[in-house]
Amino acid sequence: MGTEQTYYAEPSKQVPVYGSYDVVVVGGGCAGFAAAVAAGRLGAKTLIIERFPFFGGTATASLMADIVGIRNQVEPDDLQVMKGIGEELLLRLQENGGAHSRVSEAYKAKQRSDTKGDLSYSYAFNTEAFKAETLRMVTEAGCEILFHAWFSDVITDSGTLKGILVETKSGRQAIFARVFIDATGDGDVAARAGAAFMDYKTDSENCLQDCLMYKVSGFEPGFSINCCTWNGEMVIWGPDAGLHNSADARELTAMEVDTRLRVYRHFEELKKKDPALKNATITETGPLLGIRQTRFIKGEYVITGEDVLEGKMPPDCVAMAANPVIHYYGYRRFLEHDGYGIPYRTLIPETLDGLLVAGRCISSDQIAYESWRAMSTVLCIGEAAGTAAALSAKADVRPRDLDVPALQAQLIAQGAEIGQGRKQ
Ligand SMILES: Cc1cc2nc3c(=O)[nH]c(=O)nc-3n(C[C@H](O)[C@H](O)[C@H](O)COP(=O)(O)OP(=O)(O)OC[C@H]3O[C@@H](n4cnc5c(N)ncnc54)[C@H](O)[C@@H]3O)c2cc1C
Repeated sequence: MGTEQTYYAEPSKQVPVYGSYDVVVVGGGCAGFAAAVAAGRLGAKTLIIERFPFFGGTATASLMADIVGIRNQVEPDDLQVMKGIGEELLLRLQENGGAHSRVSEAYKAKQRSDTKGDLSYSYAFNTEAFKAETLRMVTEAGCEILFHAWFSDVITDSGTLKGILVETKSGRQAIFARVFIDATGDGDVAARAGAAFMDYKTDSENCLQDCLMYKVSGFEPGFSINCCTWNGEMVIWGPDAGLHNSADARELTAMEVDTRLRVYRHFEELKKKDPALKNATITETGPLLGIRQTRFIKGEYVITGEDVLEGKMPPDCVAMAANPVIHYYGYRRFLEHDGYGIPYRTLIPETLDGLLVAGRCISSDQIAYESWRAMSTVLCIGEAAGTAAALSAKADVRPRDLDVPALQAQLIAQGAEIGQGRKQ
């Protein structure tokens, strides 16, 4: 046996060009879905790339079937902060029988009328309905879709992202765009292009852990465990994966192996404690571990816990949030106001052009993240990123040079909430 090789020098080769677009969205989770719909609706030639053959990311591939943070969970809860594309998706799901409100007594959240502008704090949804409705909305918006495609590398020129390389069934392909949106959750595109990022997992133990969620059926009424139910099925927050780097291929595999080997034991333990689960069985584990946090791209502004707790409204607000900080303080810390603003600057990498980030990898500290991470806010951030990308491409300006009041006016015209409905 010879010495183990550390690197392999890949020979250069001609890579076919898949296409050139105004806007390319990488990743089709809640953020990427909303970004693509927003950009497509504005007439931008838009492509969305996703490794799975469906949208939703954590919402579907990890079975996270409970959207929260649509308004504050406790008083004051006068303002519905998730509007625009997120609200439209939820109303469409409700109409098709794919979602129902899930207001728990535990936190005194008020049940609303569940109509436009008066949605409750949280909704459970059917993950298959979510896949179908998001696919409909993306196709209706006129976007092109490339499924079964892995983003793998970047093409940069003088600090600007010009293109990306993706691995597909047809081999490696190059894709060019005026503006890219990194909605991979992990900030894969930005990090590969050399953008600075924070990784609180390796910095601190005070972060949210990943876990494998699973569905069970055959339970009796009156169960006592924390779960999310849907039509005779429940989704259980399963085995924790511990503190790892879920953006590292080897570690991610080890986490999948470990949690998948432990999932039946996890359920057996629950069954011992709760007689209502006696005859229940596991029907599904998500294809992907529930990954809560990896990289946070360092943007022009880092949103902080202080901003969240004080309810700050930045001048460049492009989305709003009102979800509690769920873990950092060792308890669920509710907000004492109707919501705070997400600055556009948190979507702009400090040192890279041609790219916006959207979703759980925006520029944030740990405390703030534990509030805005809710899917409601992530959908609104996605809409803001897609709108900004389309406007930047049209005006032929860098996203960081975009006319922010014009972006805000466009978001309001689309029905988004960016603070115009806030009383004080
Ligand atoms: C265990 C757990 C519990 C949670 N509980 C709740 C809750 O109760 N309520 C709530 O509202 N929120 C909850 N959240 C948070 C919420 O689900 C996430 O913050 C949100 O869904 C993140 O969306 P995203 O689009 O930013 O990222 P993701 O959902 O991670 O989407 C990223 C997408 O990019 C794709 N992708 C990634 N890398 C590549 C690549 N290299 N090439 C191609 N495609 C790629 C992925 O397949 C995925 O579709 C929870 C999350 C977890 C993990």
